[in-house]
Amino acid sequence: MRIVQSIAQLRAALQHHDSIGLVPTMGALHDGHGALIDRSVRDNRTTVVSLFVNPLQFDRPSDLAAYPRILDADAAFAQARNADILFAPDASEMYPQPQRAFVHLELLPDHLCGRFRPGHFRGVATVVLKLLDIVRPHRAYFGEKDAQQLAIIRRMTADLNVLVEIVPVPTVREPDGLAMSSRNRLLAPNHRALAPLLFQTLRDAAQLIASGETNPETVQASARAAIAAAPDIRLEYFEIVDPAELQPVERINGPVLVALAAFLGSVRLIDNVLARPAVTEPRP
Ligand code: AMP
Repeated sequence: MRIVQSIAQLRAALQHHDSIGLVPTMGALHDGHGALIDRSVRDNRTTVVSLFVNPLQFDRPSDLAAYPRILDADAAFAQARNADILFAPDASEMYPQPQRAFVHLELLPDHLCGRFRPGHFRGVATVVLKLLDIVRPHRAYFGEKDAQQLAIIRRMTADLNVLVEIVPVPTVREPDGLAMSSRNRLLAPNHRALAPLLFQTLRDAAQLIASGETNPETVQASARAAIAAAPDIRLEYFEIVDPAELQPVERINGPVLVALAAFLGSVRLIDNVLARPAVTEPRP
């Protein structure tokens, strides 16, 4: 596996490759990222893992400062999963001058994480568009764990005619259900012990929907009560939205994305499930 830090070198290295998979990450790699890399290695002749902690998408400077950075361990991880190239540019390589052009998103960031993290998805979409143009992959891999991000990248590439296939990869979880995340390592032990409640609450909500509950407010109230009963978990949002447009639904009559964000101490975790109602009504 080659480690490449400059855009020019990366472009030169990829010049004659005809089957390229891109796995964009911010590093601190774990088996969730591993699932994306495995899938890309299976689908493509060349897999590029990018590792870039993108300052543009952090709304809290403390979060950016605390984000784990472990390049050597990440390189060993990516190599063990058979990635071909690790692209690890620094911020001055990605943003050599003040950025004046950004991807403008409408509607999609208005709920879920976007509501609480102003500018976050503008930063994500902009860096992903840059990476897609730098690498020119045939396929790019994104985790369902970040469902809003995945929906936004899908829509951005469709609306802007970016020639790439966006491949979704199911969320990889710890044995107790907690979605794997680079932030999990920042959790205090007592918070780590509480964290599986988040997925449990989402599963219970999906179960309620599957057994016929069509009122999103009833599902939300039950989820909020379950989380309020846990000490030390501060729920930021619990929302039920349409999976493509990411807007809250008034009535659950088709597949919905059920998603939450919660703080355990200063660590913010997100998770989601796709829930299906007992009977799906045709859309009017
Ligand atoms: P990050 O490094 O957190 O920006 O994540 C990079 C990519 O890995 C994103 O597409 C994430 O959705 C994906 N990812 C992160 N955690 C998981 C997980 N537990 N399961 C599946 N994909 C994940």
